[in-house]
Amino acid sequence: MKFTRLKLHGFKSFCDQTELLMEPGLTGVVGPNGCGKSNLVEALRWVMGESSYKAMRASGMDDVIFSGSGNRPGRNSAEVTLVLDNVDRTAPAALNNADILEVTRRIEREEGSVYRVNGREVRARDVQLLFADASTGAHSPALVRQGQIGELIAAKPTQRRALLEEAAGISGLHSRRHEAELR
Ligand code: ATP
Ligand code: MG
Repeated sequence: MKFTRLKLHGFKSFCDQTELLMEPGLTGVVGPNGCGKSNLVEALRWVMGESSYKAMRASGMDDVIFSGSGNRPGRNSAEVTLVLDNVDRTAPAALNNADILEVTRRIEREEGSVYRVNGREVRARDVQLLFADASTGAHSPALVRQGQIGELIAAKPTQRRALLEEAAGISGLHSRRHEAELR
């Protein structure tokens, strides 16, 4: 699976519909302080199922919705879509019948999030597992936050193990086992 496109509408500072293309090779995002570079990475994490608003530098999940700036009024919803190339058919079986997967997360003020894959509504869990199995996702070690290297050095062995498990793509198995044990 390859990430090919990130579409944002009303997410944080991205009031208008915005698209980021991720073509083969390196994609760089440059711009002055406060222009929204970190917001883009947060959008990526959010659409993959991030459940912690703190990880979004927010004080509630509704804070990811564009809140207005200058003379532009705030919005009541935010939507992020991640487009994946699945030509190699590496997505989990239940979602693996299409060359292109469009994963969308939408939030309405005070109503929480809804997830869709190619237009069909799915659970947050399905999206989180899709990415966990692909060794990526909201907690992927490929997404390095500011300060994270320092945290890693100070981390306890169990926390470091969790990171290695994310990288190995087995954290999805762990959470399935946990779910099975609860039943
Ligand atoms: P730096 O180079 O300093 O790291 P950056 O390019 O990473 O900057 P971000 O942190 O992504 O910048 O963007 C911060 C901007 O996003 C701020 O101007 C902030 O006001 C704006 N912002 C954050 N959340 C919202 C929101 N919900 N609605 C409108 N604007 C928002
Ligand atoms: Mg930043």
